[in-house]
Amino acid sequence: MPCQRCNGVIAPNDKFCGLCGAPQPPQPMVSELIEENPADDVLNTCPSCGAGVTDGQMYCTVCGKTTIGED
Ligand SMILES: [Zn+2]
Ligand SMILES: [Zn+2]
Repeated sequence: MPCQRCNGVIAPNDKFCGLCGAPQPPQPMVSELIEENPADDVLNTCPSCGAGVTDGQMYCTVCGKTTIGED
């Protein structure tokens, strides 16, 4: 489903847009949760919640915190 703010592609289980950080409404039709385990394509982790952040993501899709500009 597209982001309501920037129209970017958002995974069904993402709570926040990875491109603009906009919170997404819950998806009641998703019956099974997909666990995101760290994989080879995960380059960074969210500084706030520790979730895996893939290349190109500006915001954590779990908590919505920006993943850049923090040292
Ligand atoms: Zn967006
Ligand atoms: Zn996070």
